[in-house]
Amino acid sequence: MGVASATPTAVRHLPSVALWREGDVHLFDCGENAQMRMLQAGLKRSKIENIFISHFDVDHFSGLIGLLSTLQLQRREKELTIVGPKGIKKFVEWNLNFANIDLNFDLTFVEVKEDFESQKVVDEEEYYVEARPLNHTSFCMGFRFQEKDKPGKVDAEKAKSLGITEDEQFKALKAGEDLELEDGTIVKSYDIVGHPRPGDSFAYITDTKYCPNAVKLAMNTNILYHEATFSESLAEKAAETGHSTSGDAARVANEAQTKLLVIGHFSARYTNPFVLLREARAKFFPAWLATELRPIYTNPSQEKGIVQQKVFIKEVDDKKSSSSNKPKRRKSDKSSGKRFRKRKSSPERRSRSRDDSGERRRKRPERRNSDNDDNRGSSRAPKHITPRTPFDNFDRF
Ligand SMILES: [Zn+2]
Repeated sequence: MGVASATPTAVRHLPSVALWREGDVHLFDCGENAQMRMLQAGLKRSKIENIFISHFDVDHFSGLIGLLSTLQLQRREKELTIVGPKGIKKFVEWNLNFANIDLNFDLTFVEVKEDFESQKVVDEEEYYVEARPLNHTSFCMGFRFQEKDKPGKVDAEKAKSLGITEDEQFKALKAGEDLELEDGTIVKSYDIVGHPRPGDSFAYITDTKYCPNAVKLAMNTNILYHEATFSESLAEKAAETGHSTSGDAARVANEAQTKLLVIGHFSARYTNPFVLLREARAKFFPAWLATELRPIYTNPSQEKGIVQQKVFIKEVDDKKSSSSNKPKRRKSDKSSGKRFRKRKSSPERRSRSRDDSGERRRKRPERRNSDNDDNRGSSRAPKHITPRTPFDNFDRF
């Protein structure tokens, strides 16, 4: 929802990441505008199950009260869990009191004290969330969201051939019990039910220097979201302010053997965060930039427009395809003419341009072809099925 660090920029919002699982939303940090970004991403705010606040730097929780107010106005009834450092309960309750809001849903607070090593902050039937302290200028914690192992797949054909048809029988087999059939044969659970499938996992590591606890939280995760506030040229500044460079993020990813590193929390000085991505990829290749409103899937084959992005800024693409092509070609012809005249004036360049001229002549028709390709491409239906932001010219991994 937001990939900026301390201050927002014109295109980046304050920190917040939504994890979307089985229709529920789990929010990691809640910067200003997180609720607007959810709306724009097409994620229902009523589906929020848990909110995890990593620490009390304002950019990480400034959207919390506004979000709670919206949930109240939406007449939410379902309980909501808020996890954060000790003091989060006092902060929320004081604000609600001050604004005279009497919530019609229950808040469950999980407060974490500073001197802890690791804690299961949420434990549900299908998943749990573990927290560990990180290394920032103030108390800050990271989280690991872990799905519990799922039961193995049932070999339906084999079961049928053995005469197993009742739901009760399948239930027992799935629970690991062996079955005795009417004719006395015993069917072992492991003959019908496959190995349990490991659950997916996600780690959220923000506002920290390189930290061994980050590695522990991220161990073998499907996705590791790690802050990369600075590039390696500003390593000193990163150390001073308790932040990571893109190299630090890659180091954690390497040590934790995560499947995909996603970097975020970019300093406002980077108008082009691809600088940071390049550095991270040099050390850990399966890395990607967190891009606001752009979903990243644990299983990329699922990217088939499941998330319907509601605000889709189309104009940028349209301008490119409708207005640019023809005039562009004319322009490029003109400019190549200009370039030619310039070269004539300088003897050094003249000789070079003569050497190159054959090659350039050969190249020109190619360029025209590719222009034609572009034209044809723009009249075709867009290639990608997943809704994307226009600035996300995406080549996965
Ligand atoms: Zn921060």
